[in-house]
Amino acid sequence: MNQEDLFKKLIAHSKEYGFVFPSSEIYDGLGAVYDYGQNGVELKNNIKKYWWDSMVLLHENVVGIDSAIFMHPTIWKASGHVDAFNDPLIDNKDSKKRYRADVLIEEELAKIEGKIDKEIEKARGRFGDTFDEKVFRETNNRVLDNQEKWNALHARFAEALNKADLAELKQIIEDNEIVCPVSGTRNWTEVRQFNLMFSTEMGSTADSSLKIYLRPETAQGIFVNYLNVQKTGRMKIPFGIAQIGKAFRNEIVARQFIFRMREFEQMEMQFFVRPGTELTWFEQWKETRIQWHKALGFGAANYRFHEHEKLAHYANAAVDIEFKFPFGFKEVEGIHSRTDFDLSQHQKFSGKKIQYFDPELNESYVPFVVETSIGVDRMFLQVLSASYFEEEIDGGDGKKDTRVVLRLPAPLAPVKLAVMPLIKKEGLPEKAREIIDELKFEFNCQYDEKDSIGKRYRRQDAIGTPFCVTVDHQTMEDNTVTIRYRDTMEQERVAIDQVKSIIAGQVSLRRLFEKLKS
Ligand code: ATP
Repeated sequence: MNQEDLFKKLIAHSKEYGFVFPSSEIYDGLGAVYDYGQNGVELKNNIKKYWWDSMVLLHENVVGIDSAIFMHPTIWKASGHVDAFNDPLIDNKDSKKRYRADVLIEEELAKIEGKIDKEIEKARGRFGDTFDEKVFRETNNRVLDNQEKWNALHARFAEALNKADLAELKQIIEDNEIVCPVSGTRNWTEVRQFNLMFSTEMGSTADSSLKIYLRPETAQGIFVNYLNVQKTGRMKIPFGIAQIGKAFRNEIVARQFIFRMREFEQMEMQFFVRPGTELTWFEQWKETRIQWHKALGFGAANYRFHEHEKLAHYANAAVDIEFKFPFGFKEVEGIHSRTDFDLSQHQKFSGKKIQYFDPELNESYVPFVVETSIGVDRMFLQVLSASYFEEEIDGGDGKKDTRVVLRLPAPLAPVKLAVMPLIKKEGLPEKAREIIDELKFEFNCQYDEKDSIGKRYRRQDAIGTPFCVTVDHQTMEDNTVTIRYRDTMEQERVAIDQVKSIIAGQVSLRRLFEKLKS
């Protein structure tokens, strides 16, 4: 299946099976805002729990908070967001479509990379086992030409970003003959800065109302609570504060489903360290976070690190973890060494001393910060796109059939088991309910008696349920059921009182945590 088709199918599947709905759909939707349905919310909660527990349970020096979305507006002046949380936008005069100038150039870079990858894959096919990618990259003329092109464009792009040179960004777009994907023309406007923060007003009278921003990141809620948590929790550096919550950005372009939303959720952790140690911690968190992704079993080749072209105004090191989505490698998580920028700024703007007395050094300082920041929704899309498979299977009587299966890691699956009476009579439904009544305290169970057993299996495959338990006539005689495994489709007859431990062993988050080394 080509990747574009896969992406379209994912979007349709998400809607059809109650994972993700366009927001306000009966009013024709609202741009880049989505709602999570009955299965989506379960998957999303499981992802959040996987992250939260891996931070807060597995690290005794990481604690959590839940800060308000509304915050004092001066926070956003101090953090630099009022002045600098901008994206460069450009319009195409013919299609009237709006783009991010930096994204247009990044896509051009990805195109060149795509050409290199194609050459490599062709050669790999030709040479088979004897193929040496490194040597090929260093000697093939077409690859070398494209690599040179990429390097030159990348260097020019990074310089323009770092200087915030909008005219140069436009020039790069022109020089590279980048066209609007809709109109196909190069009739561009100038590049302008656009602030991504939403604002509203707080207070009932016009005179006393205060301009309030909807937070564009959850991190600032952590910084302004640094002293509260450090003091009340008697935390010793190094320590971290984790938070999961909504963030809002008035994104210029929002065309990639839940990849880029205007209202989304972040899972962020700020790790406070002694100045001078931040780059060591940066490396450590980079490793910890990539392990967390890889533990899900989606394949190491689907991840890569991407160094930032431009460091944010607060950072002295930054890297993205990228995942291979159906539309290419894209950022799911950022790891940033934010120096003492945020705490120092809040110290300056609030007039309150925000420091740590380090008893080992016998001195006070403003801690440095290493941040890990991941979008829940992008993570959700990662999980969905890595888990979606269409398979040809044996439909019985020698006929071929297909099934759509979400091979979700069992600890993340929205429904852990479905219990199905083979027929709707002779006491089988009651027996099935008895099983659910016993297991529902531990697992999200679903009862299903409608349609043929085959159809019921298909429905559960489509939402990624790892186990289907079938109650049949034999159950009534010897208290055994069949348990059917989603991925292998194999069935096994087991005693009812074994079901709980079989399932528990597979769906516990502990299975994932045990793969994390630190
Ligand atoms: P991008 O370059 O894609 O706009 P960013 O570098 O601005 O992302 P960060 O500010 O580092 O993103 O935010 C941290 C994480 O929050 C991202 O890695 C991503 O997973 C998530 N995120 C950011 N913006 C959005 C959005 N508009 N919709 C969904 N998730 C987002």
